[in-house]
Amino acid sequence: MAICSCGFQTVIRTSYTNANPGRQFHYCPRRGTRGSGFIDWADSPVCPMCSELLVELERTTSMNEDVGRKWLAKKKETESSTFHKLDDVSHIHND
Ligand SMILES: [Zn+2]
Repeated sequence: MAICSCGFQTVIRTSYTNANPGRQFHYCPRRGTRGSGFIDWADSPVCPMCSELLVELERTTSMNEDVGRKWLAKKKETESSTFHKLDDVSHIHND
């Protein structure tokens, strides 16, 4: 249990939102009458940005792999064409 900034003792409630199902949080009964009453998570903290990033990462991983593969292919292409140019130059100098 903890004391809210308003002086009320908080209670532990369980979240039923889609984003945080089953998670427990500190709830202020006084704040709850005017708003959500949510103060802080009671279980191991996962910062909202981190969980957001994790979701985003999972969603874009396959896309990123595609982009990465294309980038590598293009890089290889560029490098090999650079080597060809260098070969051409050295040929000219050798001749
Ligand atoms: Zn309060």
